[in-house]
Amino acid sequence: MGIEAGSLPPELERRWADLLERLQRIAQRYPQAACASSLAAEDMVLTHAILGSGLNLAVFSLDTGRLHAETLALLDRIHQRYGRPVEVWHPDPQAVQEHVQEHGAYAFYESLALRKACCHIRKVEPLRRALRGRGAWITGQRREQAATRHELPLEEDDAVFGLRKFNPLADWSHEDIWQTIRWFDIPYNPLHDQGYPSIGCEPCTRAIKPGEDLRAGRWWWESADSKECGLHAGNLRTAAPPPAQPGRGSAPTQE
Ligand code: SF4
Repeated sequence: MGIEAGSLPPELERRWADLLERLQRIAQRYPQAACASSLAAEDMVLTHAILGSGLNLAVFSLDTGRLHAETLALLDRIHQRYGRPVEVWHPDPQAVQEHVQEHGAYAFYESLALRKACCHIRKVEPLRRALRGRGAWITGQRREQAATRHELPLEEDDAVFGLRKFNPLADWSHEDIWQTIRWFDIPYNPLHDQGYPSIGCEPCTRAIKPGEDLRAGRWWWESADSKECGLHAGNLRTAAPPPAQPGRGSAPTQE
């Protein structure tokens, strides 16, 4: 299925053409590269660009086991729309079970260390498996999303996962994303219409209030400069320490 961009508003047409060119170049340089989709609005734009134009790039997602039903339902909608499923990767069930048994099912509220430990088990480790042998990965991060992303480059070395990392939407605005979604009628998570500009796991995401930062609803009990889950640890000014498994009720740690 090809994508016609001829009748887009001129500025958006230029952005869309740039995006397709960026993705094509990635596919040529790294034929095994994949887009890691959180199924958020930005990732749906990337998914549409990749699956809708038949680019030879994989799209995968991590099912942490704590996602909203609306997020999971989007996987079926993508399959129906593009005729190609998103690969889904899951955490190691034993690691999840041991963590929950030792610390509880909601330990992420107790300390930054326990929150990072949960993200490591449910996101970082599965991502590491999903990226094995890829050479490069593609994310939907944008500079204006958060304090931790203001310096985001279009392309960088990912020292955490040991491969090349591309952020082809780094210079896109929130409005660019939504104009594109509306223009192409791209499927998206209905939670975005309920005050959730950024969507992660259900217990760690809340709707934002008018005027709040777009990622204010993610881990809202933490400070703005720690709000990364380990998938993009390079964004943090100070490298994250290896995830700890402290006992229940240990003091919060700061990076
Ligand atoms: S976002 Fe919350 S529930 Fe999801 S992996 Fe991280 S700490 Fe765990």
